[in-house]
Amino acid sequence: AESWQGVPLAPPDSIFKLTATYKADTFPNKVNLGVGAYRDDNNKPWVLPVIKKATKILLNDETLDHEYLPITGLPEFTSAAAKLILGSSSPAIQENRAVSVQTISGTGANHLGALFLSRFYSWGDAPKRVYLSKPTWANHQAIFKNVGIEPVDYPYYDPKTIGLDYSGFIGALESAPARSVFLLHACAHNPTGVDPTAEQWAAIAEVFLKKNHYAFFDCAYQGFASGDLDKDAAAVRYFVDKGVALLVCQSFAKNAGLYGERVGALHLVSKTKDAADRVKSQMSVLQRSEISNPPSHGARLVSLILNDGGLFEEWKADIRTMAGRIIDMRKELYRLLTEELKTPGNWDHIVNQIGMFSFTGISEAQSKALTEKAHIYLTTNGRISMAGLNGSNVRYFAENLDKVVR
Ligand code: PMP
Repeated sequence: AESWQGVPLAPPDSIFKLTATYKADTFPNKVNLGVGAYRDDNNKPWVLPVIKKATKILLNDETLDHEYLPITGLPEFTSAAAKLILGSSSPAIQENRAVSVQTISGTGANHLGALFLSRFYSWGDAPKRVYLSKPTWANHQAIFKNVGIEPVDYPYYDPKTIGLDYSGFIGALESAPARSVFLLHACAHNPTGVDPTAEQWAAIAEVFLKKNHYAFFDCAYQGFASGDLDKDAAAVRYFVDKGVALLVCQSFAKNAGLYGERVGALHLVSKTKDAADRVKSQMSVLQRSEISNPPSHGARLVSLILNDGGLFEEWKADIRTMAGRIIDMRKELYRLLTEELKTPGNWDHIVNQIGMFSFTGISEAQSKALTEKAHIYLTTNGRISMAGLNGSNVRYFAENLDKVVR
């Protein structure tokens, strides 16, 4: 019988391993800054009030059943999701040029987008390649490799300024062969928390147009960055307005707190309705062989919220609650480091960075020291999840950060 002798043992996923070690730690003041999920001020997962309300509405709806959804998903979900990211008056939607497919959250959208490009992008004789920011969400590499697209880095983060390596980024766009595929984080870059400014996005879009590059947008944090859904969609909408060829991966894991429900969508904007129809037909074929049809519950929840004016306003308030708490934690951490503790170094990036994550700029040794000496869990690249900080632990964290950098 097959003994799987040739199967090497893979290491556990580093983030999930970090969480397991945190859970096993019995130290009372332990802090988990690894987790990429929102926590409230009591360090508890937060079910959004609007989601609780929508769940009750679904439970009382006697007309619902458990039949299969269409292959490309719940139509009232995908069309509302497209408006959410592209804007309700988007010319791409009005001209029926946007293709929208419901996916297994953002990961599934990245996968389907990558698979579609692998099969149908006109690569010509060029090798199948995608340019990824250095650093990026670790799963990007694996997702593209899985479909035979080779990931290559483009400069993004500058450790000297703990900010954007803007000239390196532009330089990479300029020197890549024409029609290259570049992955862009739509907002709240993971893991750095460093986003281009509006002016920088405009200059980046210009190079995309000049070089005919393809923009593969990943949007996992709409609303989470600034607290405003429209503001966080600005880069994507700008690129659509300018006519950059693109697709967008959309996740409702963070902004609706629906992590485990796997709600997401892939939107591809093409030049004509005819192209959109052909693209959609092939996406259906791909989706059919992979998952047959997407799950219904989470899509129904989000669809209810997006298509009801009152619920939509409540959702926006919930998003402001989450984004606001994170922004408050940034301010408080900054205040403690700069005013109270007078920690050596410049900490402006703590308040300038955006979204769930912050690159602190501390070294691997300092990150490890925080874990070993203070039971503060974070990835060794110095990234912290701001959602793991709260009124009860931010001082403890600041004091220990102060100690390891002195
Ligand atoms: N892209 C990025 C950049 C992310 O940070 C995440 C979440 N960690 C995702 C995509 C996808 O997450 P999900 O599949 O849970 O929507």
